[in-house]
Formats: sequence, C-alpha cells, structure tokens
Amino acid sequence: MRFDIITVLPGLLESPFAHSILQRAQKKGIAEIVVHNLRDYSTGKQKSVDDYPYGGGSGMVMTIQPFAACIEKLKAERDYDEVIFMSPDGERLNQQIANRLSIQKNFIVLCGHYKGIDQRIRDIYVTREISIGDYVLSGGELPAAILVDAVVRLIPGVLSDETSALSDSFQDNMLDAPVYTRPADWNGHKVPDILLSGNTPEVEKWRFEQAMERTKTRRPDLLE
Ligand code: SAH
Repeated sequence: MRFDIITVLPGLLESPFAHSILQRAQKKGIAEIVVHNLRDYSTGKQKSVDDYPYGGGSGMVMTIQPFAACIEKLKAERDYDEVIFMSPDGERLNQQIANRLSIQKNFIVLCGHYKGIDQRIRDIYVTREISIGDYVLSGGELPAAILVDAVVRLIPGVLSDETSALSDSFQDNMLDAPVYTRPADWNGHKVPDILLSGNTPEVEKWRFEQAMERTKTRRPDLLE
C-alpha cells in the first residue's frame, strides 16, 4: 500500500509516521508513506499556494495550480485507487471505511489549510472526501495521519498476533472488552477471577458478555 500525502506543512507529518506500528509497517515494506511539500510544485512568485477568495470574505483559499501539478505528476507514475481530500464536510471516518480502504493499494491524500481548497480541485481530482469528526481543525495533516494509522494497522502483517485488530472496538459493531495485566491484586483491587482460570472458552464468553454490556451502555446505536 502506498500513501502520497500532499501538504503545505510536511514537518507536521514527520513524527506520526516515524514511530511504533506505522514505522514498523514501512520498515517491513508493507506500507510506503510519502509526504510531498505542496510549495515545491508552485510556479507562483514566492512559491505561493494560496490567494484571496473570489467574492470576498475572510480567510485565504488554496490555489489549484500546485495541487494539480503534484497530482498529475503522481498519476503519471502509478495508478491510484482514490484521491482523498480530508475535509470536515466529507463522510465521517469509521472502522468500516478503514476496513474497505485497507484492501486497496494506492492513495493520494490532500491536506487543506486556511479557508480550504479551491472547489475546482475537488471537482476535478478528488474521488473521496473524508472527515475525522464534527469539529474543525486548522489543517488536514492530523486528519491525514489519523486516516493512515487507522488503515495501515489493518493490513495483514502489520500488527503482531497479540494486538490483532479483529477484537478491537467497532469490528463487529461492538466495543472491546476491558483488559487487565499484572499484578492480579493492586491494593485490594482484583482482576476478575475468570481471567486467571485458564479456561479459554469461559474467558471468551466473559469477554463477549463484557463487550456486549459496554456496547449497550455506552454505544447502543452500534447495536441497532
Ligand atoms: N472552511 C472549512 C474548514 C477549513 S479548515 C469548512 O468550514 O469546512 C482547513 C483544513 O483543515 C480543511 O480544508 C481540511 O483539510 C482540514 N480539516 C479541518 N477539520 C477537519 C476534519 N474534521 N476532518 C478532516 N479534515 C479537516
């Protein structure tokens, strides 16, 4: 899988991909994450990437030219399954969307800034618009990092068995069960006996019941 992320602030994306599971996925060659500096594609004076909005009003708008140049260059090099624009008015990211994206191959991800990007970029190039939630951030970089993390950890071979994604919350429309580790007794706060029993079928049953209980109380909407 390959993500080409186009941003005006590449520095914002350095750390999220340089650690832990996302770093391991890249080292194993399972995921390739390439960050492109939008300014490098600008032919404007002073490498500008934004301009005043037509019709007036506050905030700058990101211009078409640098995005078009970068997207065209990438598309000439390989085929892409989706060109994704991170945007608060897109479809809201959830586990089902992450699952579906995790079986595709190549993605271009556009990060907006300021007031947003010229609508014509969306009309001409974007095939999918994804929001990470009903709130507005100052740029698309953190949303892009969240999308990449949610998708890459689902690719077989990225997580070790012990951290399998299959039992995580939202797979099967259920929340995850509570988890415990040593010590078995912390100042009188004990781990449930069943988890110490060694009886795997009973442990599984308990986990299912706990997950169901949590889902009913915290997220009944998932069971509808
Ligand atoms: N004027 C826009 C918000 C611009 S915020 C509006 O009201 O819809 C600047 C950029 O941050 C956006 O272009 C987008 O790329 C990113 N962004 C902000 N909030 C986001 C969210 N919830 N999900 C995904 N991207 C978001």
